[in-house]
Amino acid sequence: MNVRDSEVICGLLQKAGYRISVTDQDADVIIFNTCSVRKHAEDRVWSLMGSYKGSKIIGLVGCMAQNYKEQAFTRDANISFVVGPQDIDKIPKMLGKILETRGQSPNNGDSPRLLERKIWETEGKLRPEEIYHTDFYQDTNHAYVVISEGCSNFCSYCVVPYVRGPLRHRKHQDILIEIREAIARGITKVTLLGQNVNAYQDNQVNFTKLLGQVNALEGIKEFDFFTSHPKDAGVDSFKAIRDLDKLAKRLHLPLQSGADRILKSMNRGYAVKDYLALIDSYRKIVKGGRLTTDIIVGFPTETDQDFKETCALVKKARFNAAYIFKYSSRPGTEAAKMADELKPGDKEKRHKKILDLQRGISKEIRSRQTDAKN
Ligand code: SAH
Ligand code: SF4
Repeated sequence: MNVRDSEVICGLLQKAGYRISVTDQDADVIIFNTCSVRKHAEDRVWSLMGSYKGSKIIGLVGCMAQNYKEQAFTRDANISFVVGPQDIDKIPKMLGKILETRGQSPNNGDSPRLLERKIWETEGKLRPEEIYHTDFYQDTNHAYVVISEGCSNFCSYCVVPYVRGPLRHRKHQDILIEIREAIARGITKVTLLGQNVNAYQDNQVNFTKLLGQVNALEGIKEFDFFTSHPKDAGVDSFKAIRDLDKLAKRLHLPLQSGADRILKSMNRGYAVKDYLALIDSYRKIVKGGRLTTDIIVGFPTETDQDFKETCALVKKARFNAAYIFKYSSRPGTEAAKMADELKPGDKEKRHKKILDLQRGISKEIRSRQTDAKN
């Protein structure tokens, strides 16, 4: 999601006459497009931003900007502008204003000095559709395409609904136009993006209908989507994976925990048995399809028994791969108010244990596949 947002920002700036520099030394302005999902990601940005020590105009953009708003200026006095994810369309104009105060325009060759003025924009609710049509792609043959923005699920540990706002769906016609534009630029592979793609709905067009429409586009060779939510994913989308010739035979289905008590406390909206039934149905429908997941260890009150249940599920599910995260308390979320967060050392131990377990499984699956090929 952030990679796509960075492209959008680059595209908007380029359209306004700015140039994207290859190295940070060459740049007059440095924009940090940021993630707040875990504290570690935020810490890295604060530290990296600090390393510029007033030599550049610094912009804090994305989820951290939304999280900290004007307080970001107190945390790092070198920041000149702060822009939340719903306000990225305003960046070129803001930057223009910042440079104007110094009598500098984007292309007059002056090197902008540090500003006295601080600007922030974090009140936006909707992104204008135009931002997705600026013709800037990092990759020459693959494009990320946002189908829905925000999230209304409020999993108790997650900051996304707070920083990216409620779930909104883009119009299916707009999505198809964007993909056609990408095809015209030589793109042949597409990844459809949303925090919960299965919930996609634009009038009569639901997620599987949209998949069919993308599959029918001439010029697309392969596409996939990211991320499915177990409470909304189902047989329809699995059949689409089986039947649509350009849709990749893989599914990322975040589990988060293998203990019902923890899943409930996470507000995930499904139980272990539902998850197992879902992957069973996926495997039956999409023969040989890849399956990956996300898991959080050390959620508040997670006992040894809960953790064992997660390990047991990992053994049973035999994921091709899993992203395993140590729980990170996010201010403002429901889980942040819960007592009994695990000690960092205990989280670390569980993280290592389950990582080793999954690595073993991934390796075994890979070697079986190689054997089968030979
Ligand atoms: N919308 C997607 C996930 C978005 S965040 C979904 O529901 O699956 C990506 C992953 O980060 C999540 O699946 C979760 O495993 C992890 N994550 C989110 N918040 C976290 C937190 N506070 N601490 C640790 N991991 C977290
Ligand atoms: Fe966060 Fe849950 Fe929404 Fe995913 S579905 S973005 S984990 S609140």
